[in-house]
Amino acid sequence: MLHSKPKEDNYLHKGLRKQLIETLKEKGITDNAVLEAINNIPRHFFLDPAFERIAYEDRAFPILADQTISQPYTVAFQSQLLQIKKFDKVLEIGTGSAYQACVLAELGATVYTIERQKELYDFVGKFFFLKNYPSIKRFYGDGYKGLPSYAPFDKIIITAAAPYIPDALLDQLKNGGIMVAPVGGDEGQKMMLITKDKKGNITQKEMGDFSFVPMLQGKNK
Ligand code: SAH
Repeated sequence: MLHSKPKEDNYLHKGLRKQLIETLKEKGITDNAVLEAINNIPRHFFLDPAFERIAYEDRAFPILADQTISQPYTVAFQSQLLQIKKFDKVLEIGTGSAYQACVLAELGATVYTIERQKELYDFVGKFFFLKNYPSIKRFYGDGYKGLPSYAPFDKIIITAAAPYIPDALLDQLKNGGIMVAPVGGDEGQKMMLITKDKKGNITQKEMGDFSFVPMLQGKNK
């Protein structure tokens, strides 16, 4: 699959990206900063060359270790809900291909991202494109635990289907912070928008149906 060597980003890719942006707008994405971030990132770099021609279709694709790179609409939707501001400290559960992490970094966030699959974690470590994003810090670990030593976070995003919101992650969210997470099982998940007010009170809101690979317990060697 990916990519230790730089790849070309030519007019064809750029044109396909413009079309993808139009599709995302039609589907209801309104945040221009998010659309611009997606427009700036060559998604085909994150995929096996076999997918190069279809890399800008609005769909998920397989990556290593039976995992997936999320559908662009899903990436845009979650990113939009997070209302990223420059220098926001964001915790991501499920690095996967690191595409979502790059979108958040493009939006100006410092991203702490955790992956439980060692193979994927190591592979992404060799990905040439990530050198452009020193604000992405990668961790091999279990997202259920979060990163207590780096907490609190302004924003938290889970990019795997969580059977429930882990208390450890709620604890690591700042007062005034936002968490976005797909909650549910194999049959599908509800995107939950979770906010913590200034006093630490938590509110949850359902934001629609999505389908992610499962958030699993523990690390995988
Ligand atoms: N954000 C990714 C989407 C990856 S799919 C992208 O943009 O490509 C979800 C990822 O979550 C998978 O790589 C999976 O291995 C990882 N994952 C699942 N459970 C996890 C856990 N408990 N901790 C950390 N990562 C986890």
